[in-house]
Amino acid sequence: MWGMTLCISRQHLAQMVDYAKAAHPKECCGLLLGEECRVLKILPAANIAEDKHVRFEIDPAALLSVQKSEREGGAKLIGYYHSHPNGRLEPSQTDAAMAAQDGKYWLIIADGQLSAWVTSQKGRLHNRFDPVEMISKVETHGPSGH
Ligand SMILES: [Zn+2]
Repeated sequence: MWGMTLCISRQHLAQMVDYAKAAHPKECCGLLLGEECRVLKILPAANIAEDKHVRFEIDPAALLSVQKSEREGGAKLIGYYHSHPNGRLEPSQTDAAMAAQDGKYWLIIADGQLSAWVTSQKGRLHNRFDPVEMISKVETHGPSGH
């Protein structure tokens, strides 16, 4: 059973909204790194799709650097994010066709809002995605101290 919740800080959510605004009217994209259902880091990646207004394709260099970090015991790849300049907050049919049935999280940013999904074999949306609840905690600045 995969996680149906995703823990992610408000800072990270705000960052992704900013990336989406900066890339508009093109799509921005990137990687979610962390442990199980907790996002610890977001890694913006270049969108190398031919038509960046309606598609995204994550720069393979970003994926390779994450795989390297995973091998070295760093944060793991737990999902992907990208923006929808058309304002649709759900993954598209195109997204469903691209998504592997790997239990990875997908975050969609549209109009300053975010939605979270997990890929699955019989997802409720496009037979590929199930909605995920996001749990955000306000992160305190500086070291949490211990
Ligand atoms: Zn999409």
